[in-house]
Amino acid sequence: MKGEDRKARIKVEKRFGLKEGQAVLCKTCKNIITLPAHNITVNGEYIHEFTNPEGVTYRISCFSSASGCMVHGIPVMDHTWFEGFSWSISLCSNCFTHLGWYYKSDDQSFFGLIVDRLLTNPALSLLDILD
Ligand SMILES: [Zn+2]
Repeated sequence: MKGEDRKARIKVEKRFGLKEGQAVLCKTCKNIITLPAHNITVNGEYIHEFTNPEGVTYRISCFSSASGCMVHGIPVMDHTWFEGFSWSISLCSNCFTHLGWYYKSDDQSFFGLIVDRLLTNPALSLLDILD
């Protein structure tokens, strides 16, 4: 891991209040979705805020993998938030809550998960920690 990446990761762990080994959970059912170690930057940012064509704003955090998510539907490029990436819906594999999107390009893929639908532990949401 490059020094710069390491620094960024330490910073975000502080912001999220996460330590290695803690899990990121589905807020609805507490299913383990992913781990802090999988939290990545995309276009230099851990958190992205987007508004869809219906006017709904989502705040998402990017993860290289999310074993607690199931990917649903055929990937589409329409209204994609990340240039060159198609998206599919990502659901919690346990309760099927919509948790975010799975993004894929020719050589890269990641999950963009909606921050306020996740928990870092049962008492604390990521948004509470960030704000
Ligand atoms: Zn769930």
